Amino acid sequence: MTQSTAIQSQERGRILSKFADLIEQHTEELAALDALDAGRLFEWGKAVDIPSAAKTVRYYAGAADKIHGQVLKMSREFHAYTLLEPAGVVGHIIPWNFPTTVFVLKVSPSLAAGCTVVVKPAEQTPLSALFYAHLAKQAGIPDGVINVVTGFGPTAGAAISSHMDVDVVSFTGSTEVGRKIMQAAALSNLKPVSLELGGKSPLLIFNDADVDQAADQALLGGEVCAASSRVFVQEGIYDEFVEKLAEKAKTWVVGDPFDPKTRLGPQVDKKQYDKILSYIEDGKREGATLLTGGKPVGTKGYYIQPTIFTDVKEDMLIAKDEIFGPVMSLMKFKTIEEGIKCANNTQYGLAAGIITKNLDVANTVSRSIRAGVIWVNCYFAVDDDCPFGGYKMSGFGRDLGLDAIHKYLLVKSVATPLHNSPWL
Ligand code: NAD
Repeated sequence: MTQSTAIQSQERGRILSKFADLIEQHTEELAALDALDAGRLFEWGKAVDIPSAAKTVRYYAGAADKIHGQVLKMSREFHAYTLLEPAGVVGHIIPWNFPTTVFVLKVSPSLAAGCTVVVKPAEQTPLSALFYAHLAKQAGIPDGVINVVTGFGPTAGAAISSHMDVDVVSFTGSTEVGRKIMQAAALSNLKPVSLELGGKSPLLIFNDADVDQAADQALLGGEVCAASSRVFVQEGIYDEFVEKLAEKAKTWVVGDPFDPKTRLGPQVDKKQYDKILSYIEDGKREGATLLTGGKPVGTKGYYIQPTIFTDVKEDMLIAKDEIFGPVMSLMKFKTIEEGIKCANNTQYGLAAGIITKNLDVANTVSRSIRAGVIWVNCYFAVDDDCPFGGYKMSGFGRDLGLDAIHKYLLVKSVATPLHNSPWL
């Protein structure tokens, strides 16, 4: 794109801000689409998902005209500088669990960087992506800049990852599909990829924790990549914690995502529902004890009770595999060292939580856990300014934060000799 045809950075920022305003103005419709498609809670969508999406777009709108290279001091008689140029066409392949959040956190920094995008939403949840594209057009984003292609992974998704004219792929989804995307990129035009993949995140609760608050934090799991699906409780408070957790989990209302009383909506589809129930059977067969839940709710739809297992051993399937549903494995630990060892005993490294009042423990454990995001005395504290992404088989590259823009930029060095240098 030349200077004259490209939309200049300030104008990109202005249009993105308008896009954010339109998202806010359509909060109800967007929250309803995600509730219908993904089973996300309607009230949560209105209060959190959609307002946060508008904030994310605004965050990157503000960054659009602050993208610049550096002037370099070279060792010889040169003047040099770097230009940061848009990478070109970015393919975004996204999952079903956060149709809104992942759409905006992928698209916004790439548009701020000056790229065009092809977005493939998950086949289960295409509706809000299509509506976002419609709002983007109203905001003044030119035709051809945001392209939403619906379809299945092995066809529409694979066409993006293997396409010779797609310059970058940013993927969020399972580790298994992430591997295929990287292979397709390697076998086509060697496009850079970033992968936000699965997790089996640990939450470590130490003896000095407030048990009531810790139980609330622990229950924030579910169909979330960073869910604290392995909860390790220090032995001094283990029994009290188990009792409190069971009490709270039993009050959770499972049902219609449009009902304000509902805390847990349906699973996204039959495949996911069957997968979760089959893991619950594995847990029982391998000798874990069902503390709460374990059963479907009703006979219509894909509802499952919040399920908590105790007496879990680290080599059980429920403790090792990403289940991606409301299933928690509770385990006990004695020392800090043992807690760290348990937390790291996974192929994944997306997130981890630590609950303690002891600053030394919080700092030591934060440094020792191999995960991309650590939450101390909180959970899911996601913010536009905080980079989000994994270690190990949870992938590489970061979404959110200003650095995410750099996934969609290319660095060009320009060097030229100075006056009177031997080069002239
Ligand atoms: P998935 O990997 O099955 O699908 C994700 C996307 O990839 C979908 O759009 C799908 O159509 C597409 N896809 C499938 N096969 C493909 C192929 N061969 N080539 C190209 N694209 C293909 O994941 P899902 O079931 O939709 O979502 C659940 C997974 O996403 C979980 O593993 C979860 O942990 C992960 N996730 C991770 C994060 C994160 O930030 N790390 C966030 C949300 C979800």
